[in-house]
Amino acid sequence: MTWRATVLTLFPEMFPGALGHSLLGKALQRTLWSLDVRDIREHGLGKHRTVDDTPSGGGPGMVMRADVACAAIDAARASNPNVPTIYLSPRGAPLTQARVRQLANGPGAILLCGRFEGLDERVIEARNLEEVSLGDFVLAGGEIAAQALIEAAVRLIPGVLGAEASPDEESFSQGLLEYPQYTRPQSFEGRDIPDVLTGGNHREISKWRQSEAERLTKARRPDLWTLFEKRKH
Ligand code: SAH
Repeated sequence: MTWRATVLTLFPEMFPGALGHSLLGKALQRTLWSLDVRDIREHGLGKHRTVDDTPSGGGPGMVMRADVACAAIDAARASNPNVPTIYLSPRGAPLTQARVRQLANGPGAILLCGRFEGLDERVIEARNLEEVSLGDFVLAGGEIAAQALIEAAVRLIPGVLGAEASPDEESFSQGLLEYPQYTRPQSFEGRDIPDVLTGGNHREISKWRQSEAERLTKARRPDLWTLFEKRKH
């Protein structure tokens, strides 16, 4: 079955956006995955299709209404059943490659993109939403975050990146950051490609790459390094 993303947004024209290009776009055309983008406003109320209202308790901005958001979620679940429903939110669990891999191995996802000040809390409770964050910063809406999540998942679907890709060796796959990459020319502005990489000794190359991955992870991401060391012992 084709991996299926259902996106709930107030700005459907933002899709497929980045997802329509390059290998992911080609894979979309070849139906290796599918994208169903739905306008939350279709569930809006009254003549003006209202989707939001002022925050209870006061304060700036607008909040997406629970009745409208839940109607959109229920309709999405009816056509894409048995997939996790994710609300992109800065309060969510930071997205990891491990969660991306789980999602890619499943049948797809429903992604709710917030706007304004966010979403009535009761939607999250009543529909048991998984909250996922792209990182500790605030976007203006969930659309870019949804595209990032979909891109990370879809590139792991077999056939999407083509035969040459190797998601097994990249950053986070072994809990480490990736080793440095080089290509021709051999010498660039006085900097040479490390000899080991051009020497043809595959065992030595592997050893070098592993030690570089460990060195970089230790220096840049002590949090990942601690986890890696724990798993080793
Ligand atoms: N007032 C909210 C921020 C709302 S930003 C707060 O302080 O938590 C508007 C929308 O952008 C959110 O509803 C969410 O869908 C999206 N968004 C913002 N930052 C995000 C992030 N780091 N990760 C994922 N989605 C994010």
